[in-house]
Amino acid sequence: MRKALVAGNWKMHGSRSVVAELLDALADGVADMSGGPDMAVLPPFLFVPAAADRLTDTAIAVGAQNVCDQDDEGAFTGEVSARMLKEAGCRYALTGHSERRALYGESDELVAARTAAALRGGIIPIVCLGESLSEREAGETDAVVQRQLRAVVDAVGISGLAGAVLAYEPVWAIGTGRTASPQQAQAVHALLRTYLRKRDAVIGDGMRILYGGSVKPDNAAELFAMPDIDGGLIGGASLNADAFLAICRAAG
Ligand code: PEP
Repeated sequence: MRKALVAGNWKMHGSRSVVAELLDALADGVADMSGGPDMAVLPPFLFVPAAADRLTDTAIAVGAQNVCDQDDEGAFTGEVSARMLKEAGCRYALTGHSERRALYGESDELVAARTAAALRGGIIPIVCLGESLSEREAGETDAVVQRQLRAVVDAVGISGLAGAVLAYEPVWAIGTGRTASPQQAQAVHALLRTYLRKRDAVIGDGMRILYGGSVKPDNAAELFAMPDIDGGLIGGASLNADAFLAICRAAG
């Protein structure tokens, strides 16, 4: 039985005061929840310590939005290592978010190397996979997500991947208000699980595969009802504590 995970990707949003308010609202709101899914928020790096402090002893874990591919400290300007994230209180880190791939040129190989470094450093990577609109329209969805997944499996091995979480995020659904239908999402999730099962049935069955792309309180339940959708990676709606917690309840 896979336990659902709902993670909120705050992207580059917030200020000290806005983050403090959001964390208070999350900490208060989650105190009333029992038996929910695993939950996490992924603030910008600067706000990770504040989140880890405020959410200590709550059911909400903290993560980061990326992680360096290098283990040791050194001349890697702008990067943050898995060890540093762990020390700051992170449990998770995104790798391969489509904005990193598209806006900052992160290749499949770099995403795989970041994922491997997260695993070595005791951070659970949430590996994002997904096709663009033009790739979907060209019928390339399956090939694209399998190529992205293969790069990670090649780097960490199928047994290494057991320590990770996958997130299918069709790029055309991110921040657009246009959600994949539950059936469209389920088809890709099933494809990814079959890909993993062929390499290791236990790891394929146990892998948590989140859906991301304009998940909101009013569409979460039908997405999470799909057999191969194990929770969500939430962008915009995670900036509102009530909306985020409503989505978490839908995954409970
Ligand atoms: C995301 O950024 O990972 C995401 C899914 O964003 P949104 O929910 O806003 O589409």
